[in-house]
Amino acid sequence: MENQKMPKTEKEWERKLKPEEYAVLRQGGTEAPFSGEYVYTKDKGMYRCRACGNEIFSSETKFESGTGWPSFYDAIPGAVKLQEDKSLGMVRTEILCAKCGSHLGHVFDDGPQPTGKRYCINCVSLNLEKSAQE
Ligand SMILES: [Zn+2]
Repeated sequence: MENQKMPKTEKEWERKLKPEEYAVLRQGGTEAPFSGEYVYTKDKGMYRCRACGNEIFSSETKFESGTGWPSFYDAIPGAVKLQEDKSLGMVRTEILCAKCGSHLGHVFDDGPQPTGKRYCINCVSLNLEKSAQE
């Protein structure tokens, strides 16, 4: 993915991504809880944006939230943009990839220390790049 050009139009994104990825990343959808591949993953590595490869979360900040979505208490500095999301009759804070603008999930204020944040993320928005085994 690193050598490909970043899509510029939604049509190009639609061609590049699988339908379930496009629905979440480009249309702000949410995958069903407990359905994703990284909900219980404890492997060490770097979680990257599935759309553009941007480094988003280190596995060091992943925690078990019991929500059915992979959860992190902090993002890589500068990796995400936050914006208010008033869809579904709620006010939530949406998490977007700072590089490509794709939807990743939402952030809540009930996470563990040291940040108190819970970044609740769709598995289809991420790719785990496992670190090399020691
Ligand atoms: Zn991205």
